[in-house]
This record gives sequence, C-alpha cells and structure tokens, in this order.
Amino acid sequence: MSLTKASAIVLHSRKQGETSKILQLYSLEYGRISVMVKGSRGLKGKYWGTLEPLNHIAIIFYHKQNRDLYFVSQADLIDRFPGIHKQLGKLTLASIACEIVNRGEEKEHENRRLYYYLLQTLTALNVHESGLRNFLRAFILKYLALSGFTPNFGVCSICGKAPINTSCRFSLDKGAVICATCEPDAFIHCVDIHAPVLHFLHRLSINEIKSAGIRTVNRELGDEADRLLFLYLKYHIEHLDQMKSLDYLEKLKVLMTDSSD
Ligand SMILES: [Zn+2]
Repeated sequence: MSLTKASAIVLHSRKQGETSKILQLYSLEYGRISVMVKGSRGLKGKYWGTLEPLNHIAIIFYHKQNRDLYFVSQADLIDRFPGIHKQLGKLTLASIACEIVNRGEEKEHENRRLYYYLLQTLTALNVHESGLRNFLRAFILKYLALSGFTPNFGVCSICGKAPINTSCRFSLDKGAVICATCEPDAFIHCVDIHAPVLHFLHRLSINEIKSAGIRTVNRELGDEADRLLFLYLKYHIEHLDQMKSLDYLEKLKVLMTDSSD
C-alpha cells in the first residue's frame, strides 16, 4: 500500500454510514478524485472542521484494491476561507464554482491551471466585499477556455468589427457574436444580447480572476451576462443541467446588495 500526497479543494461531501464521509476533491496533482474518510463525522470526529466543502487542504491517501475510491490517512487544513462563510452570497458563488468543477470534470483528469483558477476564485471571494459576482463570471470564462470552448465576445464573427449597436446575437453553437448589421442565418442556437454585455464579458475574459472585482456593471446587464454565460456553459459542458447551487443564485438575486453584484 503506497501513500500519496496531494493539495486539494473540497468540492462536495456526503455522509457514508454512521461515521464516515465520501468527499469529492479537486487536487493539484490528480484532478478530481473521490476519497473516503473513516471516522470523520461529529464533534469528536477525526479531522473535525478540516474536510468541509470549499476548504483548501493537504491530504495523504492510499488506494485499496478493487475499490473505485481512495482512503484518507491524514488531512490538514490549509485555509477554510472564513470570509466566504460569513456571507450567504459569497458562499453561493463559491459553491457554484465548486459544483461546476465537480460535475463538469472527469475523474483523475489533472489540470493544474483549473486548480489555480478555482483557488484564485475562492481567495478573491474570501477577501473582497464588492464585485463578487464578477469573480464567478471570470472563473466560468477561464473554465470555458480550458475546456476548449473559448467564447469570442470581442468582435462580430462575420464582419470582424466590434459590436456597437445595442442589440446583437450570440451563437451558443459557435461561441461567436453576430452584430446587428450582419445576417445571423448561418448560425444556429442564437440568443439576443446587448453590445455592452459583450464588451463587459470580453474585458472579463482577457484579465485575471483576481482583478475581476473592479469592473462595474449594473444589475440588469449583470443578469444578462449571467444568463448568457450559464446558457453557453450548459450548452457545451456535460452534466451541468442539474446544478443545484444555481437555484440559490436565483433566490439571492433579490437579497444581494448592489455592492455584491
Ligand atoms: Zn458584423
């Protein structure tokens, strides 16, 4: 039995029997992995507070023959992101990022950039108090790019000009913009979108996640950007149709203050 070390973010946790848990982790070294942690539940449980969703941890684990699981032999907390847990809006945004990775990523498909993007998103949500939804938007744009579906919001895919009219169309199929003066007939599965939303998403897509919070957008355009991003994400990434945390985002829209947009 060989022991393996990894740094990981806890994406999801579920109970297993009376005292154990099965965790979904996204690790730097191995991508998404499932691990069993025995005797980890309850106040007296081993690793109490260490293995909660969103936590950044260091683990040592091993594999048992004929099981599709790894077993944790040691776990240490690196960061629990306390700022995220103090605010329901932050918690929801962080949970959506983790759920996208948990549902969208194949098991044991290593992608170090995805690990760092997720970590940057959690870190940004932990420390910032404004522009919060932009961090999730920026994360989704990076995730799409890593998955091979980089959307081009910058210029019309037909005439090559930056969209300046108020109303444009975006092809979910091609990930491309068609400005108001060009014919959209060549594209299928298009959605109407306002040019300022495209400019906003384009700026987010070419910058780092950590600087996403400084971009300002009003509530209406932000909602339109979210609608487009999630439509595009679900169109191309398998297993995201049933995302549970999105329901919370809908409920939160009426609760979140302007500063958390
Ligand atoms: Zn055009």
